[in-house]
Amino acid sequence: MKLQRRMEENQLNDSTQRDIVVKMLEERGVRLEDIAEITYDLQVKYVPELTEAVCLDHVERVVMKREVQNAILTGLELDILAEKGHIREPLRTKLMDDHGLYGVDEVLALAIVNVYGSIGLTNFGYVDKKKPGIIRELDIIGKDKDKCHTFLDDIVGAIAAAAASSIAHRYA
Ligand code: MG
Repeated sequence: MKLQRRMEENQLNDSTQRDIVVKMLEERGVRLEDIAEITYDLQVKYVPELTEAVCLDHVERVVMKREVQNAILTGLELDILAEKGHIREPLRTKLMDDHGLYGVDEVLALAIVNVYGSIGLTNFGYVDKKKPGIIRELDIIGKDKDKCHTFLDDIVGAIAAAAASSIAHRYA
């Protein structure tokens, strides 16, 4: 009984936190549908019957995971703090300029793909190189001197890659 209750409480916390991270992503210009589009492009060659609705469903599963939520909360907060000037040098400039050798943004995003094993990692590498859809847009907007998308672009890529892996595990 106690264990059952603990489980229910955890599920409640996860879905409350899910709403918070989804809203945070939206405030940063990313809808789950945008992420599902990338997932679709990653997986349709392996699962031709795939639909965007199925992709969205798997993106939803990914953002229900607590490790994923924690990575989103952390990364987005750092981007926002950098934009507001609340991060000290030398880190602030590295974040605002999305310095190529900084690398911690990709490492944080690995916390998301790690949940889905090696297919997640392969997909993430591909997305990081190709920058499809919303990721390209975020990259361009992030070059604006007042905007910081250093963590956001990797987080979006990682969620898309994780959802693609979740689909692969189920259908491929
Ligand atoms: Mg980045």
